[in-house]
Amino acid sequence: MAGIKWVLASDIDGTLIGCGGEAELAAFLHARPEIGVIYLTGRTRANAETMLKRHGFPEPLALATDIGADVYWGPDLRVDESWAFQQRRDWSPRRVMRTLDEVSGVEYLGRSSHWRLAYRVDSYQALGEARTRLVRAGVMHRTLWNDEERRLDIVPRGAFKGRALKYILGRLNLRAQQCFVAGDAENDVDLMEGRYRGVLVANGTLEIKESLPPVIVRARYEGALGVLEGLRQFLDEPLMPEESENAG
Ligand SMILES: [Mg+2]
Repeated sequence: MAGIKWVLASDIDGTLIGCGGEAELAAFLHARPEIGVIYLTGRTRANAETMLKRHGFPEPLALATDIGADVYWGPDLRVDESWAFQQRRDWSPRRVMRTLDEVSGVEYLGRSSHWRLAYRVDSYQALGEARTRLVRAGVMHRTLWNDEERRLDIVPRGAFKGRALKYILGRLNLRAQQCFVAGDAENDVDLMEGRYRGVLVANGTLEIKESLPPVIVRARYEGALGVLEGLRQFLDEPLMPEESENAG
Protein backbone atom coordinates (compact mmCIF):
# COMPACT_ATOMS: atom_id res chain seq x y z
CA MET A 1 0.00 0.00 0.00
CA ALA A 2 2.79 2.42 0.84
CA GLY A 3 3.82 4.47 -2.14
CA ILE A 4 0.55 4.07 -4.04
CA LYS A 5 -0.13 7.34 -5.80
CA TRP A 6 -2.68 6.28 -8.37
CA VAL A 7 -5.16 3.49 -8.84
CA LEU A 8 -6.30 1.73 -11.96
CA ALA A 9 -9.71 0.18 -11.25
CA SER A 10 -10.57 -2.04 -14.16
CA ASP A 11 -13.01 -4.57 -15.48
CA ILE A 12 -11.33 -7.74 -16.75
CA ASP A 13 -13.15 -9.30 -19.73
CA GLY A 14 -13.14 -7.22 -22.88
CA THR A 15 -11.22 -4.49 -21.07
CA LEU A 16 -7.97 -5.91 -19.71
CA ILE A 17 -8.18 -9.24 -21.45
CA GLY A 18 -9.46 -10.50 -24.75
CA CYS A 19 -8.50 -7.90 -27.32
CA GLY A 20 -4.70 -8.10 -27.39
CA GLY A 21 -2.15 -5.77 -25.82
CA GLU A 22 -2.35 -7.55 -22.47
CA ALA A 23 1.44 -7.99 -22.22
CA GLU A 24 2.09 -4.30 -22.94
CA LEU A 25 -0.32 -3.14 -20.27
CA ALA A 26 0.94 -5.70 -17.74
CA ALA A 27 4.54 -4.58 -18.35
CA PHE A 28 3.55 -0.93 -17.97
CA LEU A 29 1.88 -1.64 -14.64
CA HIS A 30 4.80 -3.69 -13.33
CA ALA A 31 7.14 -0.83 -14.22
CA ARG A 32 4.97 1.66 -12.33
CA PRO A 33 4.55 0.30 -8.80
CA GLU A 34 3.07 3.64 -7.69
CA ILE A 35 -0.07 2.59 -9.58
CA GLY A 36 -2.14 0.23 -7.48
CA VAL A 37 -4.57 -2.01 -9.31
CA ILE A 38 -8.12 -2.97 -8.40
CA TYR A 39 -9.92 -5.52 -10.56
CA LEU A 40 -13.72 -5.53 -10.74
CA THR A 41 -15.30 -8.41 -12.55
CA GLY A 42 -18.37 -10.56 -13.05
CA ARG A 43 -16.17 -13.62 -12.66
CA THR A 44 -15.63 -15.63 -9.53
CA ARG A 45 -12.40 -15.28 -7.58
CA ALA A 46 -10.66 -18.46 -8.75
CA ASN A 47 -11.64 -17.76 -12.29
CA ALA A 48 -10.43 -14.17 -12.23
CA GLU A 49 -7.16 -15.08 -10.56
CA THR A 50 -6.36 -17.64 -13.23
CA MET A 51 -7.01 -15.18 -16.04
CA LEU A 52 -4.96 -12.42 -14.44
CA LYS A 53 -2.04 -14.73 -13.71
CA ARG A 54 -2.07 -16.16 -17.21
CA HIS A 55 -1.57 -12.67 -18.62
CA GLY A 56 0.92 -11.57 -15.97
CA PHE A 57 -1.14 -8.72 -14.53
CA PRO A 58 0.09 -7.45 -11.16
CA GLU A 59 -1.36 -8.57 -7.86
CA PRO A 60 -4.20 -6.30 -6.86
CA LEU A 61 -4.85 -4.02 -3.92
CA ALA A 62 -8.29 -5.59 -4.06
CA LEU A 63 -10.43 -7.76 -6.30
CA ALA A 64 -14.22 -7.37 -6.53
CA THR A 65 -15.94 -10.42 -7.98
CA ASP A 66 -19.50 -11.22 -9.02
CA ILE A 67 -19.86 -7.57 -10.14
CA GLY A 68 -19.09 -6.36 -6.65
CA ALA A 69 -20.90 -8.91 -4.46
CA ASP A 70 -17.59 -10.00 -2.97
CA VAL A 71 -14.47 -8.03 -2.16
CA TYR A 72 -11.08 -9.68 -1.64
CA TRP A 73 -8.03 -7.90 -0.29
CA GLY A 74 -4.68 -8.35 -1.93
CA PRO A 75 -2.13 -9.68 -2.17
CA ASP A 76 -3.35 -12.90 -0.55
CA LEU A 77 -6.99 -12.21 -1.46
CA ARG A 78 -8.69 -12.60 1.88
CA VAL A 79 -12.45 -12.22 1.58
CA ASP A 80 -13.95 -9.12 3.17
CA GLU A 81 -16.42 -10.62 5.62
CA SER A 82 -18.13 -7.40 6.54
CA TRP A 83 -18.81 -6.62 2.89
CA ALA A 84 -20.18 -10.12 2.34
CA PHE A 85 -22.35 -9.70 5.42
CA GLN A 86 -23.87 -6.55 3.95
CA GLN A 87 -24.75 -8.43 0.75
CA ARG A 88 -26.22 -11.33 2.65
CA ARG A 89 -28.48 -9.24 4.85
CA ASP A 90 -31.36 -8.99 2.41
CA TRP A 91 -30.37 -11.73 -0.01
CA SER A 92 -32.54 -14.82 -0.19
CA PRO A 93 -31.72 -17.14 -3.08
CA ARG A 94 -34.46 -19.47 -1.93
CA ARG A 95 -37.08 -16.75 -2.34
CA VAL A 96 -35.73 -15.94 -5.77
CA MET A 97 -36.01 -19.58 -6.78
CA ARG A 98 -39.48 -20.01 -5.31
CA THR A 99 -40.71 -16.91 -7.11
CA LEU A 100 -39.25 -17.82 -10.50
CA ASP A 101 -40.25 -21.46 -10.24
CA GLU A 102 -43.77 -20.62 -11.34
CA VAL A 103 -42.87 -18.51 -14.34
CA SER A 104 -43.23 -20.34 -17.61
CA GLY A 105 -40.46 -19.89 -20.13
CA VAL A 106 -37.94 -19.41 -17.33
CA GLU A 107 -35.68 -22.34 -16.59
CA TYR A 108 -33.27 -22.55 -13.67
CA LEU A 109 -29.76 -23.38 -14.86
CA GLY A 110 -27.99 -23.46 -11.53
CA ARG A 111 -25.62 -21.34 -9.58
CA SER A 112 -22.69 -19.99 -11.45
CA SER A 113 -21.17 -18.74 -8.18
CA HIS A 114 -22.24 -18.69 -4.57
CA TRP A 115 -24.16 -15.47 -5.23
CA ARG A 116 -25.35 -15.81 -8.77
CA LEU A 117 -28.49 -17.67 -9.85
CA ALA A 118 -28.67 -18.28 -13.58
CA TYR A 119 -31.85 -18.74 -15.64
CA ARG A 120 -32.51 -19.43 -19.30
CA VAL A 121 -35.37 -17.25 -20.52
CA ASP A 122 -37.09 -18.11 -23.79
CA SER A 123 -38.87 -14.84 -24.61
CA TYR A 124 -38.99 -11.15 -23.72
CA GLN A 125 -42.45 -11.75 -22.37
CA ALA A 126 -41.09 -14.32 -19.94
CA LEU A 127 -38.28 -11.93 -19.04
CA GLY A 128 -40.77 -9.20 -18.24
CA GLU A 129 -42.88 -11.62 -16.25
CA ALA A 130 -39.86 -12.83 -14.24
CA ARG A 131 -38.90 -9.26 -13.39
CA THR A 132 -42.44 -8.31 -12.43
CA ARG A 133 -42.84 -11.32 -10.17
CA LEU A 134 -39.61 -10.63 -8.32
CA VAL A 135 -40.59 -7.02 -7.71
CA ARG A 136 -44.14 -7.93 -6.70
CA ALA A 137 -42.89 -10.58 -4.28
CA GLY A 138 -40.64 -7.96 -2.71
CA VAL A 139 -37.54 -10.05 -3.31
CA MET A 140 -34.43 -7.90 -2.98
CA HIS A 141 -32.25 -8.56 -5.99
CA ARG A 142 -30.48 -7.20 -9.02
CA THR A 143 -30.95 -8.73 -12.46
CA LEU A 144 -28.36 -9.00 -15.22
CA TRP A 145 -29.62 -9.85 -18.66
CA ASN A 146 -27.39 -11.39 -21.30
CA ASP A 147 -29.28 -10.96 -24.55
CA GLU A 148 -27.02 -13.17 -26.65
CA GLU A 149 -27.26 -16.13 -24.32
CA ARG A 150 -30.84 -15.37 -23.28
CA ARG A 151 -29.63 -15.71 -19.77
CA LEU A 152 -30.93 -13.90 -16.74
CA ASP A 153 -28.66 -13.78 -13.70
CA ILE A 154 -29.93 -12.76 -10.30
CA VAL A 155 -27.48 -11.31 -7.80
CA PRO A 156 -27.78 -9.47 -4.47
CA ARG A 157 -29.24 -6.00 -4.65
CA GLY A 158 -26.01 -4.35 -3.58
CA ALA A 159 -23.81 -6.06 -6.16
CA PHE A 160 -22.45 -3.12 -8.12
CA LYS A 161 -18.89 -2.57 -9.21
CA GLY A 162 -19.19 1.14 -8.44
CA ARG A 163 -20.34 0.48 -4.88
CA ALA A 164 -17.56 -2.01 -4.29
CA LEU A 165 -14.97 0.41 -5.66
CA LYS A 166 -16.16 3.24 -3.44
CA TYR A 167 -15.92 0.94 -0.44
CA ILE A 168 -12.45 -0.29 -1.39
CA LEU A 169 -11.06 3.21 -1.94
CA GLY A 170 -12.57 4.35 1.35
CA ARG A 171 -10.98 1.51 3.25
CA LEU A 172 -7.61 2.24 1.63
CA ASN A 173 -7.91 5.97 2.30
CA LEU A 174 -7.57 6.77 -1.37
CA ARG A 175 -9.39 9.68 -2.97
CA ALA A 176 -11.60 9.51 -6.03
CA GLN A 177 -9.18 11.86 -7.82
CA GLN A 178 -6.43 9.26 -7.54
CA CYS A 179 -8.50 6.66 -9.28
CA PHE A 180 -8.83 5.89 -12.98
CA VAL A 181 -11.52 3.45 -14.11
CA ALA A 182 -11.70 1.25 -17.22
CA GLY A 183 -14.51 -0.78 -18.70
CA ASP A 184 -16.28 -2.00 -21.82
CA ALA A 185 -19.85 -2.93 -21.03
CA GLU A 186 -23.15 -2.36 -19.29
CA ASN A 187 -22.00 -3.70 -15.93
CA ASP A 188 -19.20 -1.11 -15.87
CA VAL A 189 -21.53 1.86 -16.29
CA ASP A 190 -21.79 2.53 -12.57
CA LEU A 191 -17.98 2.82 -12.45
CA MET A 192 -18.04 5.37 -15.21
CA GLU A 193 -20.82 7.68 -14.06
CA GLY A 194 -18.49 10.65 -13.45
CA ARG A 195 -17.02 10.20 -9.99
CA TYR A 196 -13.72 9.10 -11.51
CA ARG A 197 -11.72 9.82 -14.62
CA GLY A 198 -11.69 6.77 -16.84
CA VAL A 199 -11.75 5.10 -20.22
CA LEU A 200 -14.21 3.17 -22.32
CA VAL A 201 -12.18 0.87 -24.56
CA ALA A 202 -12.83 1.01 -28.32
CA ASN A 203 -14.62 -2.34 -28.31
CA GLY A 204 -17.00 -0.98 -25.67
CA THR A 205 -20.75 -1.45 -26.05
CA LEU A 206 -22.15 1.09 -28.49
CA GLU A 207 -25.21 1.89 -26.40
CA ILE A 208 -23.19 3.03 -23.44
CA LYS A 209 -20.71 5.08 -25.47
CA GLU A 210 -23.12 7.96 -25.79
CA SER A 211 -24.43 7.99 -22.28
CA LEU A 212 -21.09 8.28 -20.49
CA PRO A 213 -19.90 11.64 -19.10
CA PRO A 214 -17.03 13.57 -20.75
CA VAL A 215 -14.53 12.54 -18.05
CA ILE A 216 -14.57 9.12 -19.63
CA VAL A 217 -12.14 8.93 -22.55
CA ARG A 218 -13.43 6.99 -25.56
CA ALA A 219 -10.28 5.08 -26.45
CA ARG A 220 -9.11 4.63 -30.02
CA TYR A 221 -7.75 1.21 -29.15
CA GLU A 222 -9.50 -1.92 -28.01
CA GLY A 223 -9.01 -3.73 -24.70
CA ALA A 224 -5.71 -3.44 -22.84
CA LEU A 225 -4.25 -0.99 -25.36
CA GLY A 226 -7.26 1.25 -24.89
CA VAL A 227 -6.75 1.11 -21.13
CA LEU A 228 -3.10 2.03 -21.63
CA GLU A 229 -4.06 4.89 -23.93
CA GLY A 230 -6.47 6.33 -21.35
CA LEU A 231 -4.22 5.68 -18.39
CA ARG A 232 -1.29 7.50 -20.02
CA GLN A 233 -3.46 10.57 -20.62
CA PHE A 234 -4.63 10.45 -17.02
CA LEU A 235 -1.10 10.22 -15.64
CA ASP A 236 0.01 13.14 -17.81
CA GLU A 237 -2.90 15.26 -16.65
CA PRO A 238 -4.49 13.78 -13.59
CA LEU A 239 -6.77 16.70 -12.73
CA MET A 240 -10.50 16.52 -13.35
CA PRO A 241 -11.64 18.84 -16.11
CA GLU A 242 -13.64 21.63 -14.49
CA GLU A 243 -16.92 21.04 -16.29
CA SER A 244 -17.28 17.65 -14.63
CA GLU A 245 -16.63 18.75 -11.06
CA ASN A 246 -20.25 18.33 -10.03
CA ALA A 247 -20.74 15.00 -11.72
CA GLY A 248 -21.24 11.81 -9.77
MG1 LIG B 1 -16.22 -6.52 -19.55
